Amino acid sequence: MWICRKCNAPWEFSQVNPDIDLEGCYFLCPTCDHRNTLIALQDGPDERTSHTLLMQPDLDWPDGKPWR
Ligand SMILES: [Zn+2]
Repeated sequence: MWICRKCNAPWEFSQVNPDIDLEGCYFLCPTCDHRNTLIALQDGPDERTSHTLLMQPDLDWPDGKPWR
């Protein structure tokens, strides 16, 4: 679950569409259109078997979405 940093609305991962642009990973809050920054982390040391997790930088690990 992610939380909008502007309006504090909680969102399930299935409710928002994370995207990447030149500034990095983010999702747009469906309520207020606030851009919430995400960071991408690997969940394992092996790139072939690990997943990319999208995290809010200030939320407790490992509350991220397996993205691939
Ligand atoms: Zn919001």
